[in-house]
Amino acid sequence: MQDRKALQSGTSHFLGQNFAKASEIKFQNRKGEIEYAWTTSWGVSTRLIGAIIMAHSDDNGLVLPPKIAPAHIAIIPIYRDAEEQKQVMTFAEKVQNNLKGLYLDDVPLYTEVDTRDMTSSERNWYWIKKGIPLRIEIGPRDIVHNSVMIARRDKEPKEKQAVNYNDLVTYTLQTLAEMQQGYFQRALDFRNRWTLEIDEKEEFYRFFTPVNLEQPEIHGGFASAHWCGKSDCEEKIKEDLKVTIRCIPFEAKEETGKCICCGEKSKRRVIFAKAY
Ligand SMILES: [Zn+2]
Repeated sequence: MQDRKALQSGTSHFLGQNFAKASEIKFQNRKGEIEYAWTTSWGVSTRLIGAIIMAHSDDNGLVLPPKIAPAHIAIIPIYRDAEEQKQVMTFAEKVQNNLKGLYLDDVPLYTEVDTRDMTSSERNWYWIKKGIPLRIEIGPRDIVHNSVMIARRDKEPKEKQAVNYNDLVTYTLQTLAEMQQGYFQRALDFRNRWTLEIDEKEEFYRFFTPVNLEQPEIHGGFASAHWCGKSDCEEKIKEDLKVTIRCIPFEAKEETGKCICCGEKSKRRVIFAKAY
């Protein structure tokens, strides 16, 4: 997460046949025999929604990857009088219809038209805080140029770009795909930036100790370090630093080293971190 703490999520468990026996869940296997089911349990729950919010959001509010956003584009019509309103609303509806039926890969895109009696700035901020990926402003001057002003949630709030009506569909699809990839890359880069291979105990302790003990600043991250496999070492590190083993990576290469705690022989690295 952005404060460099680990969040346990999406755990999976192999339950064997125990639960199937208790609940009489059976199936017919390839040989035609009746067998108790081999069951699994996947902890993919609301916690993952929390993880999405924590991993991507910023000081301006929610940031949602386009593929899971409930809506993708907010159209904000801007006008001063009834005459302009008629003109602008007609164009806004045309824009909305133009964006209807679009898909980002297999995700249908949804557009909202925000006609509320609020300033354009208030409406912009409303949608920024909600994390909507794209905001489209339409005013009388844009109609003259057959274009709209588009702002992206992954750019500065005031940064806008004029896009011609004829390029709107292409721009929307390309930009949302770019944002989806961009958010992922940013989160991945952040994780990589704060995942360190640490071999010295002193460095390990320094990594997980804030400079300001009274009001700890954001510190630490993932430490990829050797562990001998003994629970005593796990306990000691937890007691000293509130740091625990978060993950024993499948893809970890076999590699001899010294346990970060006791210095005894270790065959592989594990991931240590502070967690919620
Ligand atoms: Zn050890």
